[in-house]
Amino acid sequence: MGPVRVIIVGGSFGGLTTAYELRRHLGPERAEITLLARDDQFHFVPSFPWVAMGRRSLEQISFPLAIPLAAKRVRFANETVTGIDTAAKVVRTDAGEHRYDFLVVATGHRSANEAVEGLGPFDGPGHSPMSAPETTELAQAIGRLLAEPGPVVVGAAPGASCIGPVYELAFGLDHLLRRRGLRHQVPISLLTPEPFLGHMGMGGAGKIRQLLEGALEERDLAYRTSAAITRITEDAVETADAAPVPSVCSIVIPPLAGVEAVAASEGLANPKGFVPVDDHYRHQQADGVYAVGVAVALPPVDATAVPVNFPKTGHMTEQMAKIAAADLAARLDGREACSAELSARCILDMGDRAAYLAVDPVRPPRNHIPTVSDGRAWLVAKMAFERAYLSFARRGRLVPTARGW
Ligand SMILES: Cc1cc2nc3c(=O)[nH]c(=O)nc-3n(C[C@H](O)[C@H](O)[C@H](O)COP(=O)(O)OP(=O)(O)OC[C@H]3O[C@@H](n4cnc5c(N)ncnc54)[C@H](O)[C@@H]3O)c2cc1C
Repeated sequence: MGPVRVIIVGGSFGGLTTAYELRRHLGPERAEITLLARDDQFHFVPSFPWVAMGRRSLEQISFPLAIPLAAKRVRFANETVTGIDTAAKVVRTDAGEHRYDFLVVATGHRSANEAVEGLGPFDGPGHSPMSAPETTELAQAIGRLLAEPGPVVVGAAPGASCIGPVYELAFGLDHLLRRRGLRHQVPISLLTPEPFLGHMGMGGAGKIRQLLEGALEERDLAYRTSAAITRITEDAVETADAAPVPSVCSIVIPPLAGVEAVAASEGLANPKGFVPVDDHYRHQQADGVYAVGVAVALPPVDATAVPVNFPKTGHMTEQMAKIAAADLAARLDGREACSAELSARCILDMGDRAAYLAVDPVRPPRNHIPTVSDGRAWLVAKMAFERAYLSFARRGRLVPTARGW
């Protein structure tokens, strides 16, 4: 029997980790692996807020996917998937068709900007660093703010799941404005759907709530929890239950959905476009299909007054990809691999220092009391992790520690 055909869709944390891990488990004689991605670059997404603040260029946090994949003997095709036929086991792209024995969906998200009028940046006046082009646009908007200071709102829309960057953007902007001596001209308001600070879609984590509360107040960052943003205009952000907040630069994280090609493929995704999987990240019905990362359907931890969805971080994506790759390789040998509950570690940039947060598992109740710590050393660790991740990943390897996410 010839090698099995594995198609991976997506070239970010989920797709790249799956490709590297699968190749570690299965040599070219056992698996012919093809990675399809609509973007030919890998971007270190957690550094998008630094790009927005002018602390990094996009080039510094990106590399072309083709080089490390070729070294791993993984075929790379810079194609956009338009549909997946799970019955015929065919992936359709803007360039043709690919047949598969196994498929790994790692397509990340689509920003559901239609959820709130004015969410942007290309659909309305709001800004958000959810992709490379949107981050470039936000960097330009921040440049204009520095030239013409005015009030700012940083927030997340109802149903958002990516809440960490809201805090990073508020702290980052505060830090930037202070360094330029402009902070006194820019009132910053943080509007979050979370029922309390640091809920982050995972029910909170140890002392992160108190830490964030102290840090926001120390920096004169006004905040409102359970805020339901309803509309973003050129000069204000409107919410369901209070007066509009003036804002000349509104940075609002949208709720997420699955990408169009996945959402529209029959039998593949739930109504939001996310892929339902079991605890090995296998599709619950479609044979040979896995999904990892933001593309996966994960239910919220609790019902909150304003909806907040379960987070899907880079570290969690990496764990999902490792579990899926191990399971796929084990199935070829007629075995079943182990699975594990997702844990999360992340470092939240606070401008002049950072907060470290570790939860195990992500979904409460937890085996361990969450670790929360802050200081300048964590900021140094976050920068070192970024550098190490990029240096390893562009050479076809995964960074051996997860402490820096
Ligand atoms: C601003 C920001 C800051 C963040 N900070 C952190 C952090 O500090 N720590 C942390 O752990 N996590 C962080 N995250 C979350 C982390 O970035 C995500 O969990 C991670 O990027 C998810 O990886 P993914 O592979 O699932 O999807 P993505 O990174 O979204 O990648 C999707 C891939 O699929 C491809 N694709 C999409 N559609 C198609 C198609 N139709 N055809 C072909 N290819 C397609 C894309 O080109 C891309 O390669 C942050 C996220 C954001 C937005």
